[in-house]
Amino acid sequence: MTTPSIDATRLHGRLSALEGVTATVLAPALEGASADFGGLVRGRALAIARPQGAEGLCALVALARAEGFALTPRQLGYSQSGQSIARDGVCVDMGGFGGIAIDAEAGTARCGSAVTWRELLAATAAQGLAPLVMPFNLDLTVGGLLSAGGIGSTSHHHGMAVSTVDAITAVLGTGELVHADAAERSEVFEAVLGGVGQFGFLIDATVRLRAMGPITRTWCLLYDDLATMLADELVLQSRHACVHLEGFASAAVQGLRRGPTGRRAPFARWFGGLHVSTEFHESQPPDESLLAGLRHRERVHVEDSPSTDYAARYDLRFEVMRATGAWQQPHPWFECMVPTETGLQQLPEAVTALPLLYGDGHRMMPIADVARPRFVMQPPRPLGLAVLPMGIPQAFQAPALAAARALHDRLLALGGKRYLSGWLFEPDEAAWRQHYGDQFEALVARKRALDPDGVLRSMLSFPR
Ligand SMILES: Cc1cc2nc3c(=O)[nH]c(=O)nc-3n(C[C@H](O)[C@H](O)[C@H](O)COP(=O)(O)OP(=O)(O)OC[C@H]3O[C@@H](n4cnc5c(N)ncnc54)[C@H](O)[C@@H]3O)c2cc1C
Repeated sequence: MTTPSIDATRLHGRLSALEGVTATVLAPALEGASADFGGLVRGRALAIARPQGAEGLCALVALARAEGFALTPRQLGYSQSGQSIARDGVCVDMGGFGGIAIDAEAGTARCGSAVTWRELLAATAAQGLAPLVMPFNLDLTVGGLLSAGGIGSTSHHHGMAVSTVDAITAVLGTGELVHADAAERSEVFEAVLGGVGQFGFLIDATVRLRAMGPITRTWCLLYDDLATMLADELVLQSRHACVHLEGFASAAVQGLRRGPTGRRAPFARWFGGLHVSTEFHESQPPDESLLAGLRHRERVHVEDSPSTDYAARYDLRFEVMRATGAWQQPHPWFECMVPTETGLQQLPEAVTALPLLYGDGHRMMPIADVARPRFVMQPPRPLGLAVLPMGIPQAFQAPALAAARALHDRLLALGGKRYLSGWLFEPDEAAWRQHYGDQFEALVARKRALDPDGVLRSMLSFPR
């Protein structure tokens, strides 16, 4: 599908005439929709259309097919490589799809794609329940997270959030409204989840819930080295009582040292930090058997907090990012999963080789190897690495991208799979073939089947 030259006024008129859709072509709104949190890719939204319900969305897709313009689903625009930025097309604001219905007996919640994980948790916690996997940032939307995958501090047991979905409702690139699960219309279910907005619009998802203890106890453990910390994370992965698990690479900066060319650069001694958490009721406080046999150097902190408060523990980080201007800086975020055996040997060195301009606090965690949608790629027994600086000052952008590229090449050569929300270096067909491996041809066929006119497009050049 090529982009015809589109008259904005006419487009606005055509979109506004659709029942159940509002539209805008105001410059500030278009400007916002032409960028994302990554801050490294710019596109061009010609209009923003906001469907109020499924019927309006179906009509919008029909119009796009008839008139030959592209559509890009968007929730908050928190992706980092243009995944939610229109490429001379219409940005589809999915903010109108709310609603939460909890079935406590079935242990599920059906929620609209615009629902935030904070809203979902507030609703489930009232019944002593929580989603099996939630992101660290509770303000992310259900639709945005499930389009990427969804990693959180329970992923060592439950995998990605997409693996905890029972059913979805979606509008495809054909304009068809579909209710799908693993048995019925599975070709839709397995493509839309983790499909980075390329197969259809997620309207709602039914996610599985777990019983949540009201109090969370967290032990903060300091490790002398990352290899020992990673090995202990694998031990904890097999312990049911370890409800939440987070590992960090922590840098103790040691000043400046001469590099190979004589130029000085800051260097650090790296330590590991683990947050190991369990949930409990006041009547039954946990014992410390969860920590038995672990090889940390020191227990630096222990705390109890209400479990809903624990889930929101990163709020301060995001507040600080906004208050300091870091939120507006570029974010060449890098997430990758590598096979555990290789990761145990290679990740500690790969992480400590990163320049300190990336800061520290890099996350390193095992992810459960559970059933997941067909096109969500991960290596066997994945070990995840996430490099998520608050922001990279403009002056450091070039060396930061060079370092991320080197890490990307290094980890992909080890069989790593990138998480598709991060900075992906404008992948070409060879890169997509490497990412999807033996699923590549099936993916392209699925794209053609569910979106035959290539209506769903973004600044992320997806294979078609
Ligand atoms: C501060 C911050 C913290 C983060 N923390 C985590 C974390 O803890 N765990 C984690 O896994 N990820 C995390 N992420 C990454 C985040 O999950 C992804 O970038 C996610 O896709 C962003 O959601 P969004 O609502 O902003 O979606 P957008 O950026 O608007 O969209 C993301 C992708 O999904 C598509 N899309 C959006 N809505 C729909 C829909 N309804 N139907 C179909 N496709 C759709 C878009 O086209 C695009 O391809 C974080 C990102 C940020 C910026």
